[in-house]
Amino acid sequence: MSDLINLYDLAPAQLERTLGEVVSPAFRAKQVAEWLHRGVDSFDVMTNLPKDVRSALAEKFTVAQPEVLTRTEPASDGSVKYLFRLADGNRIESVFMPIGDRTSICLSSQAGCAVGCTFCVTGFFGAGRNLTPAEMLGQFFTIQREQQIPMEQMNVVFMGMGEPLLNFDNLVTTLDVLYTNIAPRRVTVSTSGILPGIEELAKLDRRPNLAISVNAPDRKRREEIMPITAKYPLERLMAALRRFPLEKGRDMTIEYVLLAGYNDSTQDAVALAKLIRGLHAKVNAIPFNEDANLPQWMKRPSDREIDRFVDTLVRNGVRVTVRRSKGRDIAAACGQLRGKEVAKSRATGGRPLRTASESASEADWRR
Ligand code: SAH
Ligand code: SF4
Repeated sequence: MSDLINLYDLAPAQLERTLGEVVSPAFRAKQVAEWLHRGVDSFDVMTNLPKDVRSALAEKFTVAQPEVLTRTEPASDGSVKYLFRLADGNRIESVFMPIGDRTSICLSSQAGCAVGCTFCVTGFFGAGRNLTPAEMLGQFFTIQREQQIPMEQMNVVFMGMGEPLLNFDNLVTTLDVLYTNIAPRRVTVSTSGILPGIEELAKLDRRPNLAISVNAPDRKRREEIMPITAKYPLERLMAALRRFPLEKGRDMTIEYVLLAGYNDSTQDAVALAKLIRGLHAKVNAIPFNEDANLPQWMKRPSDREIDRFVDTLVRNGVRVTVRRSKGRDIAAACGQLRGKEVAKSRATGGRPLRTASESASEADWRR
């Protein structure tokens, strides 16, 4: 890997200082910063800068972004899943989701995940290193550039591979850079419930939205499918959520992966409604995405079961969103594309796989 400093690894104040030391006069440094806000991936495109300034920059710095390895054909709802290769060969996934009136990009925060939830392909393949701010921002800028969506209309969700709150410092730098283009209320961080991370997030001046993967209505079952519950018990997690400072008009999101016959009964819906009572929260019910690498008893509930679960929540005063998909839920399936490639390349002794395009048909419905 190169020794050059990637300018996208620097928070805005640090960027200003660093550029000030190398580029003069000051207005030149400002021009560089403006190009970076637009997410460029080369100094060559900074055409309003003299060539010698550009070469001086290239000697010390880089603005490199991860390389796109594959992208799926757009699904029926327009979603496109990207597989990126990082400079050290690691692979990560991101998803472009032009769903309804919201265009979102789902980013990975780590090149794997040590949390080890038993229903998650990323967890199945195990821990991976923290992504740098440049690697997180690079996913965003690359997709935004390709899809040509104005920066200000973008929403960002950290729901791809990895646990963002276990990569806290890099996450905060990434947020600070994103906020130069995107309002904090358009950014969501999803966590498996890392308590120290939630406490730190609560202290930030500009907080993103918080999504929490609850996934079970009681501690026993949560611990079975999310072993992290042993370290950060469900009761303490709920207490931390009740303390979390929410801006006016904001809700937190409770994510709940529906596993047939496991956590999708009417009683489970009642218990979940009770568990989250009093929180400013909406539930995002995510029908389980089946995958060959995951335990075979784990199945996606039928549409009837999903309806029954959701109706019960609604009758108990809970606001619910469900991602319905006939094919695969392209967002929650993050990690599965790389999963297929890792499994295949292990089987073929490391030869890379060309990913076949996927077709997913899905609709988002709200109540
Ligand atoms: N580590 C963070 C963010 C990444 S996981 C977290 O756990 O919240 C993003 C979401 O995908 C989580 O809500 C997780 O519960 C869900 N998910 C993981 N595997 C899934 C699967 N096989 N089917 C459906 N949802 C899944
Ligand atoms: Fe990690 Fe989230 Fe997957 Fe759990 S669900 S293993 S925390 S990425």
